[in-house]
Amino acid sequence: MLAKEKLTKAARSGNGRVHVRTGDTVVVLSGKDRGKQGKVVAVSPKEAKLIVEGVNIVSKHVKPRKQGQEGGIIKTEGAMYASKVQLVCPHCGKRTRIAHKFMEDGTKKRSCKKCGDVL
Ligand SMILES: [Zn+2]
Repeated sequence: MLAKEKLTKAARSGNGRVHVRTGDTVVVLSGKDRGKQGKVVAVSPKEAKLIVEGVNIVSKHVKPRKQGQEGGIIKTEGAMYASKVQLVCPHCGKRTRIAHKFMEDGTKKRSCKKCGDVL
């Protein structure tokens, strides 16, 4: 069932990193779920894809595998390209990009480009 996925252009050009992390709140920029917000539940840097809670719901047809388990169609979140989402700052609530802030102790932290708060 798991067909080997062809590496897409986005994945090939990616440097194996995605601009958001698991747990971040993001807003969808395009597609049928445009404007929807959700939490990132999984990130696949290799494919430049991620899964967002409640976004890109796809129907999966499942067969009963164990006895007593029912088959049928289940709805689940599908992976989508990371480039289709933008981070929402938890402090100012705006769509934002990520800036990097250097702390006094020399560590680098992510911060909101709009309000400057550390994320
Ligand atoms: Zn902010």
